[in-house]
Amino acid sequence: MQPSPFHLKSQIQPPYTFSQSSLQDYADCPRRFQLRYIEQLAWPAVETEPALENERRQQEGLIFHRLVQQHLLGLPTENLARLANTPDLSRWWKNWQDFRSLQDFGSLYPELTLSAPLGEHRLLAKYDLVAVRPAKKVVIYDWKTYRKRPRDEWMAARLQTRVYRALLVQASAHLNNGQAFAPEQVEMIYWYADFPVEPTRFPYTAVQYKRDWEALTRLAAEISARREFPLTGDEKKCAYCPYRSYCERGAQAGLLDEMGDEAELENIEVNFEQIQEIEF
Ligand code: SF4
Repeated sequence: MQPSPFHLKSQIQPPYTFSQSSLQDYADCPRRFQLRYIEQLAWPAVETEPALENERRQQEGLIFHRLVQQHLLGLPTENLARLANTPDLSRWWKNWQDFRSLQDFGSLYPELTLSAPLGEHRLLAKYDLVAVRPAKKVVIYDWKTYRKRPRDEWMAARLQTRVYRALLVQASAHLNNGQAFAPEQVEMIYWYADFPVEPTRFPYTAVQYKRDWEALTRLAAEISARREFPLTGDEKKCAYCPYRSYCERGAQAGLLDEMGDEAELENIEVNFEQIQEIEF
């Protein structure tokens, strides 16, 4: 039997480690944050139908991330190419190699984890790739395997975009001879495996950095002070949420084919935190 909401734990304990995923969940739906991160309730329902198709896509996304990481770490292309053995993976792999051949990455830091204090808590991020170029520019790359190219405005509003750039400025001095990078040296690039020549690029400024860090600190304090985590008022967010039966927001999973860009961003996210599960 599912626990009653009245028996849910209702507070995070400092120091709590926030990630872009947990902050995004809170921004989307405070109850989802509570269920996933405070209650740590396991995924009780499929997110989309057909479930197997969705699972296959997520698995391919994870394998692609692992392939790119191994490639960046220097594993031979021929060995990795054999693992790109589905139509999606084969296409993404080719697109990735074309993309890589055109890049001057500089010093590569794949699988980089950074963290810093955020008020009485901590903020942690795992980056697909951070590249420090000779011209003292630092570029954050994030690989996305979305079926549709999202609008740039959506990506700009994602907490990932704000967290990754701000935390890099805050916590990456060790990549720059002990000196913090200036925000103007930072750029974030979302590279879409199915839209390889249409990446989204986000430069950064000192004004944006100040705004982001203050907003993130406020958000962490707000979550910390909460005793109640209400259900979202936007019921569209429930269609692909695994907790919808728990919240009595519908028993049926949303259809993959009907999934809009926003829902896809929120629910078919493949992030580095999941990747360790894939062993080659
Ligand atoms: S089903 Fe809806 S209300 Fe419940 S956690 Fe998910 S998004 Fe929030």
